[in-house]
Amino acid sequence: MTKCPICEKGTLKKAKVDEEMFGMSLGKYDADVCGKCGESFMSEAEMERMEAKAKELGIWGLGKRIKVVRSGNSLSVRIPAKIAEYLDLSEGKNVFLYPDGKNRIVVEVA
Ligand SMILES: [Zn+2]
Repeated sequence: MTKCPICEKGTLKKAKVDEEMFGMSLGKYDADVCGKCGESFMSEAEMERMEAKAKELGIWGLGKRIKVVRSGNSLSVRIPAKIAEYLDLSEGKNVFLYPDGKNRIVVEVA
C-alpha cells in the first residue's frame, strides 16, 4: 500500500474519479485516491486522456488571467474572444452578474 504524499496518513486505493472542467464533465479516469484526505493522483497517461477530452469539448485553455480596468464609475472585465465564442456571447446580449462567495463572480448567460 502506498502512503498518501499529501496527508501522509491515508493509503492510496485505485478508483475511478469523475473529472470536470468549467462545469463540463470530462468523464471518469483511473486514479489513486487517498482514503483519508480524498486527494487523487492520476497517471501521466490519464492526464493526457483528460486533456484530449477537454480539447475535444473546446474548453481546454479557456480559463484566463485578466486585468480589471476602470470604465467610468465602474470596473470592467474584458471577456476574451475565445470565451465569448464558446458561450455564444455577443455585444448587446443581457447577462446576469452576481458574486458567489467572496472570491468569485458569476456571469450567467441566459
Ligand atoms: Zn491523504
